[in-house]
Amino acid sequence: MLADCLHCGACRRVCPVQRLGRASFPGSWEKDEPNPAVWNCTNCWLCQENCPQGLDLWQAKALAQRQQPPPPGIARSVANLRNTGLSLPVIPEINENRQEYELSPLKPVNPQILSLLAR
Ligand code: SF4
Ligand code: SF4
Repeated sequence: MLADCLHCGACRRVCPVQRLGRASFPGSWEKDEPNPAVWNCTNCWLCQENCPQGLDLWQAKALAQRQQPPPPGIARSVANLRNTGLSLPVIPEINENRQEYELSPLKPVNPQILSLLAR
């Protein structure tokens, strides 16, 4: 998939994670080994949009994430999403804050949607 890479570094230069000095997907994928840095991605697409070869970095990142277990925080979000339809647990403080902004309380997600997520 990345065989046509020019190793120009454009993806690394624009990646916000890399620019913040954190380990990033563009900084790691050329090593062709599973690297937890792939989970630092913010999904901004800048790497893909700036690749002069038009390589599908998005798909490469998704494949790399499948080879690397997610960190505990992301794994918890996925479990919450499957169980409740929301990535964060609804603690009372969330609805208290919503009330302050005159927003209605969060409602449980429709069970039909939950069953789709469970597939
Ligand atoms: S999509 Fe991810 S890897 Fe690509 S530039 Fe954005 S943060 Fe970096
Ligand atoms: S921007 Fe594209 S061609 Fe350049 S190093 Fe990244 S993947 Fe390779």
